[in-house]
Amino acid sequence: SSAHHSPLLANLNDEQLAAVTLPAGHALILAGAGSGKTRVLTTRIAWLLQTGQATPGSILAVTFTNKAAKEMLARLSAMLPYNVRGMWIGTFHGLCNRLLRAHYQAAKLPQAFQILDTQDQLSAIKRLCKQFNVDDERFSPKQLMYFIAGCKEEGMRPGDVVVSDPDTRKKVEIYQLYEEQCQREGVVDFGELMLRSFELLRDDVHLRQHYQRRFQHMLVDEFQDTNKLQYQWLKQLAGDVVEGRFVSSSSVIAVGDDDQSIYAFRGARVGNMADFIREFDVRNQIKLEQNYRSHSNILDCANALISHNSNRLGKSLRTDQGPGEPVRIYEAPSDLAEASWMVDEIKQLVKSDGFKRQEIAVLYRSNAQSRVIESALFNASIPYRVYGGLRFFERAEIKHALAYLRLLENPHDDTSFMRVVNFPPRGIGARTVEVLQDTARSSGTSLNDAVTAVGGTAGTKLQGFVAKMDVLRERTQGKTLREIIETIEEESGLIEHYRSEKEGADRIENLQELVTAAESFVTQEGFGRDAVALPLDEHSGTSAITQSPVSQGLDPRAPLLNEPLKPAEGTLASLVNADTGETLSPLQAFLVHAALEAGDNQAQAGQDAVQLMTVHASKGLEFDAVFIGGVEEGLFPHENAMMDRGGLEEERRLAYVAITRARKRLYLSHSQTRMLHGQTRYNVKSRFFDELPEEALKWITPRQAGFGTFTPNSGAGGAYGAGAGGRFGSNSGWGGRAGSTSEIFASPPVPKQKAEPSHGIKAGLNVFHNKFGEGKVLAVEGAGDDARAQVSFGRHGTKWLALSIAKLTIVS
Ligand code: ATP
Ligand code: MG
Repeated sequence: SSAHHSPLLANLNDEQLAAVTLPAGHALILAGAGSGKTRVLTTRIAWLLQTGQATPGSILAVTFTNKAAKEMLARLSAMLPYNVRGMWIGTFHGLCNRLLRAHYQAAKLPQAFQILDTQDQLSAIKRLCKQFNVDDERFSPKQLMYFIAGCKEEGMRPGDVVVSDPDTRKKVEIYQLYEEQCQREGVVDFGELMLRSFELLRDDVHLRQHYQRRFQHMLVDEFQDTNKLQYQWLKQLAGDVVEGRFVSSSSVIAVGDDDQSIYAFRGARVGNMADFIREFDVRNQIKLEQNYRSHSNILDCANALISHNSNRLGKSLRTDQGPGEPVRIYEAPSDLAEASWMVDEIKQLVKSDGFKRQEIAVLYRSNAQSRVIESALFNASIPYRVYGGLRFFERAEIKHALAYLRLLENPHDDTSFMRVVNFPPRGIGARTVEVLQDTARSSGTSLNDAVTAVGGTAGTKLQGFVAKMDVLRERTQGKTLREIIETIEEESGLIEHYRSEKEGADRIENLQELVTAAESFVTQEGFGRDAVALPLDEHSGTSAITQSPVSQGLDPRAPLLNEPLKPAEGTLASLVNADTGETLSPLQAFLVHAALEAGDNQAQAGQDAVQLMTVHASKGLEFDAVFIGGVEEGLFPHENAMMDRGGLEEERRLAYVAITRARKRLYLSHSQTRMLHGQTRYNVKSRFFDELPEEALKWITPRQAGFGTFTPNSGAGGAYGAGAGGRFGSNSGWGGRAGSTSEIFASPPVPKQKAEPSHGIKAGLNVFHNKFGEGKVLAVEGAGDDARAQVSFGRHGTKWLALSIAKLTIVS
């Protein structure tokens, strides 16, 4: 027909054309990455509209992210002269929200109902637990939240849960109370958005039939990651069960790729594909096998990797593009080196090869990895944007921790005071804070100093907070930056607060990452090796140390000791107060650094910027060049997922998603050492490297024997489990007590340039300073004009002093 000659269809291959122009009816398009699934969906919508088979109002399309929805809308409005607003295009949650807003009365919601995020949800549950005296040892608020979310995902109200034991009965009771509370307050959580709109459709025949008639064309992208309730929701909109048979007069087209199912942990069911085929009696199944995205070296890697998974629905992918560049693999001595290698390669790509920055992505398995990369990009003045998350220093938990640190440095920092006076919550209400602000304003003092003027219980609480900060200020005197941050994170209650939150684990990891950030800041700035206590916790089972660095013939000290020990010129540590000779304390310098990094360089909207995101967030996207960092055992595959086959296969699908994001260049890297969550880890390269075809690879650094000996039969954990004898810290041959890394690193094989300092100041001596009084020298480093001493001055804390400026006299 003439519709087939539409320019819209000009560039489609035969299978794509068939999919785009399918006659009305249900269809499943099952195809691998980059085969044009999303493009087919978008083009089909355009084609339906253009050929008059559909009006904008008859279309409902589900995308996986808001970003994808925006892109689809943007493409459609470029292709067509229509007002695309009438179309319902969005994520499941977005569409549910739209439905409930339109029918809030039928859904028994207030017009302006609020949506609770997970943090709000948890505090709501906590309030409930307190009110009803729930034993939080037996039922933690977090556990209750999971329970409620899980019930909702399965479409179950309290009355639907099968109660078989007293514990479940209690949980169901709380679920019930929680529902009543939400209803009273007019709020809905994410699960409720989905469930409430599902029930609305199920129970209101007129409404359901209205939408069934309206949405003649339903299209669902990333169908492999839908959960049970989402599938049921689609079914409600698509049709009704009549005499035991599902009957639908609309067309549902689902596209998906079982190899890219990566949200099982959130209830995604690949099984929905089989159910869909059966229940919708799907006749049309189309496979797309031509990949348009990647050069063949990249695609070969993806295909070879995923072939190691079992129970695949089976698809193959080919590309007409040439082999392109080999996939480059780099082994870094440290995570810092990995990041700086990435930066060098990115510069090269932009300068010499003409790549746009926004066409370059850096992907990582775990959010905490981004900090080091952000820092390297920042230092190189390369604009970047972090997707699906905030930049490290802008994350709420980090800002809270930094506010405590600032307050420690300066009690009169009112901004920081405001941020944390009631965070974590300590019963200081907004009203009290207002009173305090008024008092401070009228007396012209800081908030800190105004607390004594506030009376009553409110005043007592405020004074309690200030007293607590005073104690902390005292207790952290003379402590290393690491110790200060750890003390603050614990004593402020931040860690405990996040421990009870669903998303809290991530936040705690970030708080630990702040410790790491401080450590490497101290090292880079050259605050002296005494301050650099490299952590190795012998009790922690979290470190994924796989093999002794000794047996690998690597000296893990080498890269670390090459870090400068003196403050580099122009660094914060080298700033010296000309009056006192005082340098910035590590804490002061670190706070300046954090403020600078948070301040700018996050690319402006529309600015050409390198893209940073987790692998999960990258689904559906594509870039000319992709870097995947931290391809190491324990990180990718992640240690939490390595112990069973299902987990490992999901990790492999994640790796498949990551690799298939790349069009022209792909870079994989792993690092021998990595500071993560405040721990140094000695990782070996991922087993995934052994599953890639050698012909497609280029090892930039010599290939190390790594995980190559692994076979699935050797048992999960066989070669890398905790206690495999490879723990660095427990290896006495390393000349250090387990767990005491500062000792291990304290005797560097780096030759000292000048043996004898001329100033006579040595560690252990008592000295006198005009401003700070008497103190004890903890450490001395550098020589000549660079000589610095670390002195503990009791009340004034520990300072680094430049000996060429500060006048120190030896007391004893
Ligand atoms: P993923 O599984 O990663 O979501 P996908 O199957 O949805 O991938 P698309 O993103 O739709 O794939 O397409 C991948 C790339 O190939 C896009 O840049 C798209 O524009 C391009 N492409 C798809 N089909 C064709 C075609 N027939 N001719 C040229 N380019 C095409
Ligand atoms: Mg897609």
